[in-house]
Amino acid sequence: MSEPILKVENLNRYFGALHATKDVSFEVADGEVRAIIGPNGAGKSTLMDLITNRTTPTSGKVIFRGEDITGMAPNKIVHRGMTKCFQISKLFSNLTVYENVQIARIEMNKKTFSLLPVRDVYLKAEVQKYLSFVGLEDQMNEVAAYLSYGDQRRLDIAIALAMDPKLLILDEPAAGVAREEAYKLMQLIRDLAAERNMTIIFIEHDMEIVFNYADVISVLRDGEMIATGTPGEIRNNQFVQEAYLGGGDA
Ligand code: ADP
Ligand code: MG
Repeated sequence: MSEPILKVENLNRYFGALHATKDVSFEVADGEVRAIIGPNGAGKSTLMDLITNRTTPTSGKVIFRGEDITGMAPNKIVHRGMTKCFQISKLFSNLTVYENVQIARIEMNKKTFSLLPVRDVYLKAEVQKYLSFVGLEDQMNEVAAYLSYGDQRRLDIAIALAMDPKLLILDEPAAGVAREEAYKLMQLIRDLAAERNMTIIFIEHDMEIVFNYADVISVLRDGEMIATGTPGEIRNNQFVQEAYLGGGDA
């Protein structure tokens, strides 16, 4: 067994008196597609924010590619190879599709690009490559605001890919997208992960998507990670049965 790409050790987070993340420990293997599930308010987004240090843990550790990144500045974490896609797209809506990806590439390569006389030519090829990964090459001159919602999500993914992640975290990638488009997006994410040797962690509510696209599923409830297993194992988990499959509130 190779070293896991991510190790989370005894993470805790309080918001005042609210214990939002309760002693969470788990590991994700290199190349794995991991789903995180749980009802609204279970602490899924908080956990991802703790891993990317958008929220500082009260205690605990995050080890990424063998390095302790707990408390590291979020932009440094991105440069180490961990990128999070946003639940609500934070695109530059008045800029073009092309420009949105270009900004991400420049940010990732500030030092290199300042030395390159052929910067613009090189950059153009790079940006087009990322747009072609998500099937947006033909729309590269369109203003982001005018894209369909599904295409905005694709652009969001292209921007994340432009940061060359080894681990890509997605918070409800399929939210608000029609079922068919959601399946296409998830297939795209899986294909990209395989091609680029990328590990994926995604939060998702839609159990059909979770069971179809995850290698391993972790279940959060009230801030606690109560189960981790294969789709087959999690399908038979009693809490999951009650909350998702037996007419619970999810
Ligand atoms: P999920 O993503 O599973 O729906 P969240 O991680 O968003 O859950 O929220 C977990 C709990 O932490 C909720 O009770 C939420 O109200 C609370 N919470 C999240 N962020 C904050 C914050 N910045 N300040 C106070 N409470 C928060
Ligand atoms: Mg959430």
